[in-house]
Amino acid sequence: MQRRGLLIILSSPSGAGKSTLSRRLMQWDETLKFSVSATTRAPRPGETDGVEYYFKSKPEFEAMVAAGEMLEHAEVFGNYYGTPKGPVEAAMSEGRDTLFDIDWQGGQQIRNSSLGKDVVSIFILPPSIAALESRLHTRAQDSDEVIAGRMAKSQAEISHWAEYDYVLVNDDLDKAEAELKTILMAERMRRDRQPGLTDFVRGLNKEFDAR
Ligand code: 5GP
Repeated sequence: MQRRGLLIILSSPSGAGKSTLSRRLMQWDETLKFSVSATTRAPRPGETDGVEYYFKSKPEFEAMVAAGEMLEHAEVFGNYYGTPKGPVEAAMSEGRDTLFDIDWQGGQQIRNSSLGKDVVSIFILPPSIAALESRLHTRAQDSDEVIAGRMAKSQAEISHWAEYDYVLVNDDLDKAEAELKTILMAERMRRDRQPGLTDFVRGLNKEFDAR
């Protein structure tokens, strides 16, 4: 028997290191599946359609929502973002864990859906607001205006920290990475997530009986 895949939700304000940490988790465990969101925002330099996001026009996005193809969707920074349902359901039934880089609105919607019991949600806090701003500037992918908009949204994103199962402060990438792996390993070891245990212990008892 195979367990159902977990839905691992990572949220944080932009610049808290969430993308780097999800990349590291994906490298560590190749069975993890990254949920590629759909968005109406323009691709940044270096982003490829179908890898970081599925880049959609507003009408295309709205059609996906209307067709019931989104597990959740929300407006973030004036653009639509949403999680296509099909790949998530496929991963869950294959027993593969899916990693989501989504905001608090998406986190709430998935947690409150019928999939809620398979959710592990993790919020990443920056060590300080100054560090957050400096990371947004060194990333150099957005204009000053976009960065100002992201900073303005950070406080709202952070205000949802207490809705998450786990919270970590990313003051050191290696430490935060180790903490994330620990969370994932522990969640996978939960008794109710190991469906093979009953049979395993039955086997141990047979060994006892045979002595
Ligand atoms: P960015 O434009 O920097 O890639 O992402 C902006 C914000 O949108 C991030 O906080 C990211 O987590 C969030 N986001 C990305 N994809 C989704 C999604 O599918 N649903 C929701 N609700 N938020 C998303």
